[in-house]
Amino acid sequence: MERFADDLDLTQLHIDKHINAAVSKIREKATEGKGRKECCECGIEIPSARLKLIPNAERCATCQEHHEQHERLFAAPPRYSWVDDVA
Ligand SMILES: [Zn+2]
Repeated sequence: MERFADDLDLTQLHIDKHINAAVSKIREKATEGKGRKECCECGIEIPSARLKLIPNAERCATCQEHHEQHERLFAAPPRYSWVDDVA
């Protein structure tokens, strides 16, 4: 039982390490470069509050959300295949 707990602790440390690395990478990326005044998709002015949080924002929040949904939709590998049923 103790060994199981140790394994869980190590697994949690491993997960925490990866999450912290990913968060750091996102923070670095969000503040590098210079943002735009207008959204590159719809052309509206990007609110200053958004630019304050994400200085290199290229899209307004709505367009960024659509952009990320599109990326997730087309970047995700197929989750199911009829071939799996045959094998
Ligand atoms: Zn926009």
